[in-house]
Amino acid sequence: MKVRILRQQSPVSAPYWESFVYDGPADNSVAGALDYLNYHDDIINAEGKRTTRIGWECSCLQGICGACAMVINGRPALACETFLRDLKGEEIEIRPLRKFPVIHDLVVDRSSIQENLKQANMYIGEYQPAEDGDHSHQYAAAKCLKCGLCLEVCPNYVNGRTFFGAAFANDCYLVATRNRSKGGSVRTLYAEHFGKTCSKSLSCMEICPMKISTLASMAHLNRKPRK
Ligand code: SF4
Repeated sequence: MKVRILRQQSPVSAPYWESFVYDGPADNSVAGALDYLNYHDDIINAEGKRTTRIGWECSCLQGICGACAMVINGRPALACETFLRDLKGEEIEIRPLRKFPVIHDLVVDRSSIQENLKQANMYIGEYQPAEDGDHSHQYAAAKCLKCGLCLEVCPNYVNGRTFFGAAFANDCYLVATRNRSKGGSVRTLYAEHFGKTCSKSLSCMEICPMKISTLASMAHLNRKPRK
């Protein structure tokens, strides 16, 4: 099986495609296949030439850290949860997420997700939960990995400077429901950085590995809060 990867040696260098021959276990995940290609002392590409190790990142390899988010055969996904047996064709094409600056090969800089939360002071602080809270959705929203897959497919998210995307909206929901006193200011920030711009394609929900219903967060935040 051939694995074609869009590589980039540094944040300022030009991207280029490089292919590799994968002859490892067929039941591997894409993360496992990348690990396999990087395993030997000498990394050899499909042309038989020595090359550099493929840059990618992971922490848990079980769909919890979100670090291995990338675009696999045109679809944004976690590499650890995408299995070779489920991919069609004899060649796999892998590229880094396109909405974030590339650091090295498949490693991107997603710090804008956290920076936007920090800039908006989106933290719970004192725990004063809403009495009518939907605990099952709070539990679901708290599972956000900040992987950035929802931003990759979002037609409204460009670079995170004004529109912050679904990960932000879900955190707004969490803060508003777990600290009632912040509800008003959170709703203002939610409207400014999400609500006014979101075109409701809901592609974020389709791609989210944690199956978070951003629509449920939106419904709560768009509702007039109880006094
Ligand atoms: S909402 Fe889902 S897709 Fe978006 S960052 Fe969180 S876990 Fe990833």
